[in-house]
Amino acid sequence: MASPSPAALAELKAALGPSGWTDDPSEIAPWVAEWRNKWKGDTPLMLKPDTTAEIARAVEICARHGVAIVPQGGGTGLVGGQVPFGEVLLTTRRLRAVRDVTPLDDAMTVEAGITLLEAQQLAAKADRFFPLSLAAEGTATIGGVISTNAGGTAVLRYGMMRDLVLGIEAVMPDGQLFNGLKRLRKDNTGYDLKQLLIGAEGTLGVVTAATLKLFPIMRSRATAVVGLASAYSAIQLLARAKAETGGGVEAFELMKRIGVEFALKHIPGVREPLDSVQPWYVLIELTSGEPGAAEAGMERILTAAFEEELITDAAIAQNETQVRDFWKLREEQSAAQRPEGGGWKHDVSVPVSRIADFLDEATAAVEAFEPGARVSAFGHVGDGNMHYDILCPPGGDLQAFLGRWEAGSKVVHDVVANYEGSISAEHGLGRLKTDEARRYKTPLEISTMQAIRKAIDPQRIMNPAVLF
Ligand SMILES: Cc1cc2nc3c(=O)[nH]c(=O)nc-3n(C[C@H](O)[C@H](O)[C@H](O)COP(=O)(O)OP(=O)(O)OC[C@H]3O[C@@H](n4cnc5c(N)ncnc54)[C@H](O)[C@@H]3O)c2cc1C
Repeated sequence: MASPSPAALAELKAALGPSGWTDDPSEIAPWVAEWRNKWKGDTPLMLKPDTTAEIARAVEICARHGVAIVPQGGGTGLVGGQVPFGEVLLTTRRLRAVRDVTPLDDAMTVEAGITLLEAQQLAAKADRFFPLSLAAEGTATIGGVISTNAGGTAVLRYGMMRDLVLGIEAVMPDGQLFNGLKRLRKDNTGYDLKQLLIGAEGTLGVVTAATLKLFPIMRSRATAVVGLASAYSAIQLLARAKAETGGGVEAFELMKRIGVEFALKHIPGVREPLDSVQPWYVLIELTSGEPGAAEAGMERILTAAFEEELITDAAIAQNETQVRDFWKLREEQSAAQRPEGGGWKHDVSVPVSRIADFLDEATAAVEAFEPGARVSAFGHVGDGNMHYDILCPPGGDLQAFLGRWEAGSKVVHDVVANYEGSISAEHGLGRLKTDEARRYKTPLEISTMQAIRKAIDPQRIMNPAVLF
């Protein structure tokens, strides 16, 4: 797409006024550089509207002039979809109003620039719980977590953003306002535009506000780390825990010993979670509405699992410090890999029942392709979702290894496809994975997505480099 004309830029600036835009390179710089420095983009203009009406005005101008737009929230995305390369950058961070909180509807409506952490805090103030939680929650915005259909650590019990949004307000690619801020749990009136916008990665419009589903606060919570001989045992334990608690498993996070060792070595304050060294670990969190029930359930489940030799060691957190320690070990798995050199990262999912087989087969395939490579698999195994990361063999040539990333990823993704899995379980496709996804989506899926996009954004001005 051609660069925006001077006339288009002038009209945008006039419409938003001096506080609503910047073309100052020093102010723009942090927002065009991806936070891990994987992409460094550029933009002729960053729009900083603080109302939905301003966004509608700006998008209408862009549509009239055929100017491409990249929407951006907190900029924490992991696939580069928030980074402009010549497009106008439109940040929604200044959309910060809380429109309403209605506990009797178990709902609240907030604007897109509210961070995920702030949304959780607002819910807590109303004696309710907003369950989406992920390590970037202090910066990621509601607009961003909706647009990437984020998952996080409690998907097992509450689902992904698709399950947590009741209504959406968005500015469509021609500047029209879609007011879908409903608080309804039931609305069977044809196609659901709200669901199209969730996970659209900024390609179908700008999300400006959302009505989020709230839940009761759980009155008991128990957190444990267990040691296991294999990922097969983890899947058995998960099934047992779900059945025993009637669906009270909130988190079930698998870690491999190598990832625990990286965290112990590189992350200050991380401690061995158990007295013994184990090949695999699971962090389990149970919750219940009944005081004391989660703790009692955890004791019962782990005692039985130990007696049946399903698990080989366990520690139940006795206080908040221990809970935080267990979660720190899990949340630092990715950061702890960095000092070991870069890796080929994968965010994949397969059916839960097949995850252990997948891990065995993928690891054998990786070893055949890259002898000595280190596999650090961890993640939301309760959702069938693993961050399956491959690090350079010790003493290997890191640059040459990184150069084989594409071919190595194909090895992993082909195994994922054989297991009827997804090559992007959580993070979306963005700039990073759109081409790779072409290999695994069917022609029908791609052409249908293209047709939907064309119907909504015929000029393809919204985040044009992302998705099909
Ligand atoms: C440390 C860390 C841990 C993470 N853990 C998890 C995890 O456990 N589970 C998980 O699912 N994800 C995880 N993520 C990814 C996370 O979901 C995304 O980073 C987050 O959802 C993006 O929110 P953001 O506001 O930063 O959006 P951005 O990064 O700014 O944008 C992301 C995408 O959404 C689009 N977009 C942003 N705002 C809007 C808007 N208002 N309207 C339309 N489009 C918009 C952008 O164009 C871009 O394509 C993690 C990320 C980090 C950094």
